[in-house]
Amino acid sequence: MAKYLDAYDYDSIREQAGYVIKNRKKMKKSAVEKYMAHFNEKCAKSKAATVEAKQFIPGGIQHNLANNHPFALSITKAEGPWLYDVDGNRYIDFLCAGGPTILGNNFPAVRDAVLDLITKDGPVTGLYSDYELQFAKLLNKYYPTVEKFRMLGSGSEANVIAIRLARAFTGNKHIIRFAGGYHGWSDQLIYNYSEGADPEGMKLGIPTACYKNTHVVPINDIDALEAAMEKYKNEGGVAAFIMEAVGQDSGSVPTTREYHLEAEKLCRKYGALLIYDEVVTALRLGLNGAQGFFGTKPDITVFGKIIGGGYAPAGGVGSRAEIMDMLAAGIDASYYSKVKVGGTLSANPLVALAGVTTVKQLEQLNVHEKLDAAATKFMQGLASITDKYDVPAVLFNHQSILHVDISGFSFLGDFIPAGDPAMEKETIAAFMNIIEFAMGLAAEGLIVANGGKTYLCYDTTELIDDALHIYDKVLSNYE
Ligand code: PMP
Repeated sequence: MAKYLDAYDYDSIREQAGYVIKNRKKMKKSAVEKYMAHFNEKCAKSKAATVEAKQFIPGGIQHNLANNHPFALSITKAEGPWLYDVDGNRYIDFLCAGGPTILGNNFPAVRDAVLDLITKDGPVTGLYSDYELQFAKLLNKYYPTVEKFRMLGSGSEANVIAIRLARAFTGNKHIIRFAGGYHGWSDQLIYNYSEGADPEGMKLGIPTACYKNTHVVPINDIDALEAAMEKYKNEGGVAAFIMEAVGQDSGSVPTTREYHLEAEKLCRKYGALLIYDEVVTALRLGLNGAQGFFGTKPDITVFGKIIGGGYAPAGGVGSRAEIMDMLAAGIDASYYSKVKVGGTLSANPLVALAGVTTVKQLEQLNVHEKLDAAATKFMQGLASITDKYDVPAVLFNHQSILHVDISGFSFLGDFIPAGDPAMEKETIAAFMNIIEFAMGLAAEGLIVANGGKTYLCYDTTELIDDALHIYDKVLSNYE
C-alpha cells in the first residue's frame, strides 16, 4: 500500500501520488475535534498571542514556513531536538527552522563560539573579518566549483545575484527553470508567475515585464528543456538553466539522476550556465551537497539555510573566479563596471563564524552518516505504520529531507487537467489534508515543516522511535 520509495525513481513516485490522490484518507471528524480542543485548552497562551499579533503583524506571523493551523504556536525555548511553547508544551523538532539547524537547536559548540564572539566584537562592524575567509575556504574545500564565494542575506537574494551574474557573464537574456521550483520570492523568480500571466499587465504587484524572460519547462523532461534552449537561442540566448538541486519544493517532486547529467550536457551545448539552487541541499545531502551526490559541476551554486548555522542572515553565491570577479566588492573605482550587489548586515562575523563552526561540527561528529541512518529507520518505520492503518502515502527521502505525503498535493497537476473544475475542490481537499496532518502531529508533540516535506537534525536522530510513536497515534485517526 505505502512503499518506501527510491527518491530518484520519479515514475514510481508519480504513480504512487496518483494512487494517493484517488484513495486519499481523511482524518476522522472526531479526531479533528479532539485536536482542536487540545489546541484551545493546552495552547491558550499561544492562541491569545496570535489574536494580538494579528493586530500588528499581517496574518499574525512573520515566517512563511510555520504551520499555523488552528493558530501559530508561540515558541519560548528551543534546545537540542526539542521546542517548547509558551504554554509549556514540548515538541520534537522535525522542522529544524525549515532546514538551517541541522545540528539541533542552540547546538552548544555553535552557541559558545557565537557568545564568545559577541562578548568581544558584537554582532557586526561592516568591516572585514577573518571568518569570511575561513568560511569561503571551507566551502571551496567541499564545493570545488565554488572557487570564490560571496556571502549574502538570504537564499532569495542569492538567487537574484546568480541569474544576474549568469546574464552578465554570458551576455544572454533568458533564464529557464523547471515548473514549481522555488528560488525565493524575487520579482523574476517567484514560482511560476510567467505561466498564464497577462503579458501586458501586472500580477499581485509584479509587472509581467519582470519575468517575461524567465521560462518554465516541465521537470525531468530533457526534450522540453532542449526545445526551450533551441527556441531562445536566437532570441537573445539562454543565460542559465536554474534548478532546485533535488527537485520541486526541496524534492517533493524529485529530479532523476539522469536529468541532472543531461541538463548539464545541454547547458554546455547551448552555452548556458547551469545554476544549482542548493539553498536546501548544501551541507545537508552531505558535506558536498547535491553536486557531490550527482557528480555534476554547476557553473553557479546558490547557498542559504545551513551555511549560517541557524544564524542570520544566511545566503550566498559561489562560482569560478572569472564569474565571481565580475561582482562589485568594497569601495573601488571599478564599481560602476561591476555587477551590483550589497548587504549591510551580510557576512557579519557572527553568521560567518556560526557557519564555520557548523561545518566543523558536521565534519567531526560524522553527522551525515547518523542522519542518513536515522532517516532510513524513520521511513521504514513509517511505511509499516501507514500500512498498518491502510493510509496511502508517498514516502521517500533525500537523505535527511523526508517526504511524507498523504495528500498527493504536489502531483495534482499531473492527474487533474488544467481548467478542470475539479481542480479547485481537489486542491482545497489536499491542502486541508496536509494542514490537519500537521495539526495532529503538533497536538501529539511533533512539529513538521509545511507541505509534504520535513527535516531531521543531528539531535533528533536519538528520537526516531518517539517520533514514529507520534506518527502512529496520528495515523490511527484516518478513515
Ligand atoms: N531556494 C530554495 C530551494 C529554498 O528552499 C528557499 C527557501 N525555502 C529559497 C531559495 C529562499 O531562501 P530564503 O528563504 O533564505 O530567502
